Amino acid sequence: MTNKLIYLDNNATTKVDERVLEAMLPYFKEEYANPSSMYNFAKKSADAIKQARGVIKDFVNAQSEKEIIFTSCGSESANTAIRGVLNYNKTRKHIITSAVEHPCVLNLYKALEKQGYKVDYIGVNSNGELNLEELDAAINEDTALVSIMWANNETGVINPIEKISQIIKSKNKETKFFVDAVQAAGKIPIDVQAAGIDLLGISGHKFHAPKGIGALYVNSKTMITPLIIGGHQERGKRAGTENTPYIAGLAKAAELAIDGLNYEATEIKRLRDKLETGIVSRIYNARLNTGAAQRVPNTTNIGFEYIEGELILLHLSDLGICASSGSACTSGSLEPSHVLRAMNVPFTAIHGSVRWSLSRFTKEDEIDYVIEKLPGIIEKVNSISPYQKELAALKALRGE
Ligand code: PLP
Repeated sequence: MTNKLIYLDNNATTKVDERVLEAMLPYFKEEYANPSSMYNFAKKSADAIKQARGVIKDFVNAQSEKEIIFTSCGSESANTAIRGVLNYNKTRKHIITSAVEHPCVLNLYKALEKQGYKVDYIGVNSNGELNLEELDAAINEDTALVSIMWANNETGVINPIEKISQIIKSKNKETKFFVDAVQAAGKIPIDVQAAGIDLLGISGHKFHAPKGIGALYVNSKTMITPLIIGGHQERGKRAGTENTPYIAGLAKAAELAIDGLNYEATEIKRLRDKLETGIVSRIYNARLNTGAAQRVPNTTNIGFEYIEGELILLHLSDLGICASSGSACTSGSLEPSHVLRAMNVPFTAIHGSVRWSLSRFTKEDEIDYVIEKLPGIIEKVNSISPYQKELAALKALRGE
């Protein structure tokens, strides 16, 4: 065991930035009033929420603060958007999404299929890029909603959101477009107006705010039926006393993210590329799973052929290095990731895929340490692989 911690799993969650925590503290301590209360004491809480709504409006470039709803997380934002649109207009029963969405979207669609909705799951190519022709062909008169993520959580691959919006609106002006931007927010600029988006969800804990706070953009022309019914909060679109400290934290995190976009695009990308090249050039059975696809700057997904990802993660964990596997462990059986399966990643690499995701707190010496230690780990795991013949052939092929 080691005391070292090298955290390269920032697509799972991020460290709360100290400045975010500072911005939250007054609303836990002195300014604890319910923001809906009438007395003067509640003014600071109400002002904090008003100010935060303005910051999030700018963060996504909405037209008005009225288009921003605070939620508890990315999953709630997605559920509110999707169920909200479908419940408002129950006559349309067709939905389009992609095969590589996050489970908070995919599992909701599985549930909606049982309620009579028809869902088309658009495929991706081997780099993880969406098949736009298939999307175009799928839109029809009955299509209530298209929901496509901005950036994929496992691969970082970015979808051409503006182009997708143009396709949708050229086929059916009434079809609503929901974008799960949980993995894009804070990593690349978001402009809902330029991209032609009707609804968009974000989650604070992916960009250095705490877990338990998110937001949903719903443009003024889009009507939704609320998911949570109760008080008048969030203009009746999401009942429940506002979480003032977390909302203040989300706004601070968004401000820091806007300031950090250039650092993200240059320095974080440089470190990610260094890690990626360092691994792929030193390890003969490593392959980049996304080819030349456009990606958010912080993510790389690398397959290690003929070995198990979980074993790699355990060895990394012994050194204090946190990354994540492309495989999810479901009820004791190791199911390969639905994203990598949709990309047709060869079966030889799919079980040995590892996602690395950086943040503004990632240091160059941490990347150097991983590049130094990983070849030894992979050698160890290779040595117990049942595919020795295949590994030897691969080694010969890749010139080692
Ligand atoms: N969408 C994507 C792409 C995600 O990566 C995640 C979280 O991993 C979510 C939605 C769900 O967000 P939350 O954990 O805030 O519910």
